[in-house]
Amino acid sequence: MNPKDLQATAGLLERIGRLLATDAHSSGLAPVQWEVLRYLDRANEFSRSSAALTAYLGSTKGTVSQTVKALEQRGLVTNLPSKQDRRRNRLSLTATGKKLLLDDPMMVWPRALNALPETEQQRFHETLEKLVRDRLQSQGRQAFGMCRDCKYFGREHENGQPHYCKLLEVPLSDAASEQICFEQVAAYGQE
Ligand code: SF4
Repeated sequence: MNPKDLQATAGLLERIGRLLATDAHSSGLAPVQWEVLRYLDRANEFSRSSAALTAYLGSTKGTVSQTVKALEQRGLVTNLPSKQDRRRNRLSLTATGKKLLLDDPMMVWPRALNALPETEQQRFHETLEKLVRDRLQSQGRQAFGMCRDCKYFGREHENGQPHYCKLLEVPLSDAASEQICFEQVAAYGQE
């Protein structure tokens, strides 16, 4: 593609971002508040802290703390000390937060993507994933990829139930293997 066409593609990404923000506002929450709810829905138990959320959003501690407080006041999120480490906190979605996510305005996009042929869906996903990963890497930020794609993921490992994290040395369920993680390092074809 020539430079003009590449710029036009970047412009389309910008327009998608704008459409997402407009949809979020019209549903009564700020775009970043939706991002926090979605993050807590997808993140594994080791990543549901304010520190991990701050890294995920690429934001500041103060801004994240205000966003979390606003969500707590609306009864969508709880913020409690971690049972494993009292210096850390543990963020969770409340039942109301989970219910609200059923009406996530972003769901128009999966529905639109579903209308594309399967191979195109897969290619689109892989392309966007690579773009996001490379951009985050260039900024020295974590990818927050999926657990099952991590180099520390031990599929059906002898110590696992049924899987195992070789970094944190804990068993992992099938459900956990589908979640995103603060510590994830892409396997890139390794086991
Ligand atoms: S295997 Fe990787 S992604 Fe999964 S819990 Fe361990 S460090 Fe996190």
